[in-house]
Parts: sequence; C-alpha cells; structure tokens
Amino acid sequence: MAVLPPGIDADVFARACDRFAEAVGRDWVLTSDEDLVPYRDYWSPVPLAEEELLPSAAVGPATVEEVQAVVRVANELRIPLYPISTGKNFAYGGPAPNLRGSVIVDLKRMNRILEVDADRHFALVEPGVSYFDLYRHIQERGLRLWVDTPDPGWGSPVGNTLDRGIGYTQGFYRDHTGAQYGFEVVLANGEVMRTGMGALPGSRTWQDYKYGFGPDPSGLFAQGNFGIVTKMGLRLMPQPEHWRNGLVTVPRRRDFAPLVRTVNYLTDLGLIGEPWYGSPLRALMTDDAFRRAATRRGGFDEAELDRLAADNGLHSWQVELQCYGSEGTTRAAWEYAKELVRGSIPGARVTDGESLPVPLTEEQILATTARYPTNMRRNVTQGVPSLEIWSRLGRTEAMPESWSQGHVGLFAVIPRTAESVFEAQQVFGDTLRELGLESGISAISTPLNWHQFSFFFSAGFSSGGGNADGTVEGKRRTAEGLEALLEKAAERGWGEYRAAPYFQDAVAARYSFNEHALRRFNETRKDAVDTNGILAPGRGGIWPARLRPSRRDA
Ligand SMILES: Cc1cc2nc3c(=O)[nH]c(=O)nc-3n(C[C@H](O)[C@H](O)[C@H](O)COP(=O)(O)OP(=O)(O)OC[C@H]3O[C@@H](n4cnc5c(N)ncnc54)[C@H](O)[C@@H]3O)c2cc1C
Repeated sequence: MAVLPPGIDADVFARACDRFAEAVGRDWVLTSDEDLVPYRDYWSPVPLAEEELLPSAAVGPATVEEVQAVVRVANELRIPLYPISTGKNFAYGGPAPNLRGSVIVDLKRMNRILEVDADRHFALVEPGVSYFDLYRHIQERGLRLWVDTPDPGWGSPVGNTLDRGIGYTQGFYRDHTGAQYGFEVVLANGEVMRTGMGALPGSRTWQDYKYGFGPDPSGLFAQGNFGIVTKMGLRLMPQPEHWRNGLVTVPRRRDFAPLVRTVNYLTDLGLIGEPWYGSPLRALMTDDAFRRAATRRGGFDEAELDRLAADNGLHSWQVELQCYGSEGTTRAAWEYAKELVRGSIPGARVTDGESLPVPLTEEQILATTARYPTNMRRNVTQGVPSLEIWSRLGRTEAMPESWSQGHVGLFAVIPRTAESVFEAQQVFGDTLRELGLESGISAISTPLNWHQFSFFFSAGFSSGGGNADGTVEGKRRTAEGLEALLEKAAERGWGEYRAAPYFQDAVAARYSFNEHALRRFNETRKDAVDTNGILAPGRGGIWPARLRPSRRDA
C-alpha cells in the first residue's frame, strides 16, 4: 500500500527519494511494499486500517554526514523523518512512526563501538550497536564490565535509552536514560551538536560528567523529537566479584505494606539490585474459588484472600532480592535485609538463595531461578542479553501453537507503596474486565520498581486463549478500552511512563498542569529549532506548528 507524507504529492516524493539516494546511495533508499514490511509495527492496534502508522520510505545513512544530508533534503522538501536505531521497540510501536507517511531514518548501519573504558566504566556507541554487539565486544576483550540490558537483547542502548528503557541490575544502571552520559545529535537544521562535556573541543571527560556547563539539553532527546542521535555515551556497571540472592515471603495481604517499605529502604541505600515482587498465590489461579476472589469486582475481600492463602499453606507475597559486591559484602547486605524483615513483619520467612562467584557460568545463567516461582530471569540480572523472553510469548518449538499475536500495554507510574498497588489492581482490573478485556490483572499483580512503581496494564491480542481477539475490530476495541483507562488513571494522579506512538497523544494530553504549560513549552521550543517540522512529528505528543492538526484528540 503506497503511502505518502501528508501534503506531499507523488512527484515531490519521487524527487525526495532521488535526493536521499544521492545522499546515502540508491541501495539504501527503500520504497517498495516488500522492503517496508520490516518497518511496520507487527503489534499495531490498528493493522491494515487507514490509520495504521505506515512509513512512506526508509533511508539508511552510514555516517553522520549522510544523516546531515538526509536532514537537509527533508528540510528543503518538507518531508517528515522518523529516526530509529535498531527499531525493535515492540509493544511500544516497533519501528513505526508517529505520523503516517514519515520516512524512517534507519541507523542500523552506524554500528561502531567507539570506545569502552574498563577503568572509568563507560562506553561510547553509535545507534546501530545492539546490546548483543556491546556484550560480545566486552566479552571478546575480557573486560570486567556489565551492560545493563532490557529483556530482549536485540535492541540498542541508544534506541532503548531514547524511549526511557529499563534493565535489571544495580540501581543507577537500570534507568537507561539516567545512565546516558553524553549525546552527539544532528539537529533539525542539519548542524551537529554535542551535549555535556562533549561541547568542549578536545574534552577528555565526555562520558564522565554529563552536564558540562549551563542547561543540559540531553533530556530533550528521550521521548522527544529535537534531534537525531548519532553517538551516545553510557555508564557501564563494573563486573562485581559476587552475586547472591534470597527470597522473602510474607503471610498476609496487608504485610505487603511493611515489605515494600523495607525493600524501598534497602534499594535506596544501594544495598540491593532489582527487587522482583511476586505472589506465591499465583499457584492458586487455576482454582475457581481463588480466581473469583482475586478478580472480584468492586473491591477485594482481604479476609477471604488471607483465609484462602492460609488454607492452602501459602504466603501472600514474595520478593526476590539480589546483592552484588564481594562474597562478604553481599552476605552482610542479605543478613541485614533478613534482620529488617524479621524485625518488621511477623511471620515473614526468609530463604537463603544462591551465592555465586561472578561471572556465572553459562550453565548457571541458563538455569532459571525456578525454585522461586518469581520468574526473575537470571540473564538480565547478570547483564547478559538474550531473547529468552520471546520463548514466553511467541511461537517456539516448545509452544508451536502459541495463540499470542502480541500485546499493547501501558505502564502507569504509581507511588511506591502497597496501598497504591492495591488501588491499581482494583481500578485497572475492574475497568478492563468491564470492557471485556482479560488483562491478567488481579489481587496478586505486582509492579516493577525504581523510585516509583510501574504498574503494567495491557491487553494481549490472540487468535484464541481468552484475550482480546486478534481481529482488526478486536484490536480497535482494545485500543479504545486502553485509552479509556488512561482517563481513569489520570483521575487518580497516575500518568504513564511510556507508550506506543498510537497512544502518545492521549498519554501526553494528561500531563496538562496549568493549561498544558509543559506541552506549550515543548512546542514553542519545537517550532524554534525545527522550523519546518521535519523531525519525528508527534513523538512524545509534541507536534510542530504545521502538523498540529494531526494530533489525535485525547
Ligand atoms: C516481551 C517484551 C519485553 C520487553 N522488555 C523490555 C525491558 O525489559 N526493558 C525495556 O526498556 N524495554 C522492553 N521492551 C520494549 C523494547 O523491546 C525495548 O525497549 C527495545 O530495546 C527498544 O527497541 P530498540 O532498542 O531497537 O529502540 P528503537 O526502536 O530503535 O528506538 C526506540 C524509539 O526511540 C527513538 N529513536 C531511536 N533512535 C533514535 C535516534 N538515533 N535519534 C532520535 N530518536 C531515536 C524513536 O522514536 C524510536 O521509535 C520489551 C518488549 C517486549 C515485546
């Protein structure tokens, strides 16, 4: 299906493609339906419909100069561009743009690892470098460094960072945007800018001090549309000598409150890495009585849930803790965690986990932590990228009949308290059930953790198996349902941290304090630095003046 950028006729578009070809070479301008298939969002909530966010073409520059040349052509002919690094942002829109008809600037060919410093713990990479590439580079050189990786390792540090991605090791490194130390960016006018110490010619500390002097604009590029990132520095975790984990379980539903307080304290002191919450009661979800109680509308009966837990000899909550350091420091941290838990939660059980020298052997990494029913994946806690997560979702040898056709999901940012989790379970669970969407949210759903909790609500598309149906209409109903939920969340003071392009206007619209002061500030800035509105129009809910009517009404 041929798609053109808005307001561009076929002649101008053909001229633009010729000019892009002069800039990057004919082979690297893709326009045929077949060549554009990889730039679709396989998990789009509106597939095959007029609204699907299809690109008109893709160009693949190999150097910063080629990126500049592409930007110059786009400015001249008013062609909207949409840069991607490795383009694997599935569940958040994949490689597809915010504005239908945009030209994808695919940066996979820019895949050099420019520097890795094992003493100062950083790397400087181009956008096409994947987590696998960086990991292999480090392993081949025997460097004692870890890469904090998201679940699927086929994405890139640059792309993941630019969508505020997260990983699973020690505190600071898990927030990938926070661990970014220095960007090089091609701006909308074609100029190259460096942030932080990189702005100082001959600087020797670009990846050591991210702020430089004066305002630090690096925050503009994550979930923004103010430039095309061509280099990025990131801090790397030094490989620890030792890793240890342990399990805490607590008996009653309300015990989640002191458990969360204790884990918050240990996290913020830097004594533990990612805490992985779960519930031993998951084992009861196949039991009708329990499932009814855990998915009850209008408020859970806590006494009933506690009784069912006790009748089955199970505790209500668990958290897997992990410590990095030396054998001695990890032992001390874990002993301290045990002391705090025992002192604050009657009936809490603590179980020593494993205590292993790092690096773990391949066998140890591949082994799951199956004796805890937490599903914490060992690879990502050890900075080892993999695609293991797909084995849980897709069609594999082990699951040849998988019904999953992907999912769309949103993460609400909620306070890091048990009360907020209980409220979110009820609000999201009830609303999705009312909409006829089986979301898996119940009285035992748990959040991801940083300084906030991120509470995931989603609907899977399927060809069977009880989720939202995978037809075009089914997907549309799902998308509408999720949008309705955004309003419910906003009424409670919860916003989302990340969203696929299809939902970004609706998410951004809720960040409306003082008559949308933030959006007005961003769009004033957008109009000033991207006068022709060519860079990723609509990304993060930020539209340039000429395309503002394209904003999807919230
Ligand atoms: C089952 C499953 C599990 C997942 N688990 C995680 C997880 O644990 N953690 C996590 O963070 N994510 C997770 N994801 C989401 C996603 O797969 C990863 O975040 C992935 O790393 C993003 O793809 P990418 O790195 O190729 O980024 P890209 O797709 O290349 O980039 C993401 C976006 O950033 C912008 N962008 C990219 N490059 C540039 C550039 N050079 N200049 C300007 N803008 C740019 C674009 O808007 C682009 O769409 C998961 C997804 C699935 C389906």
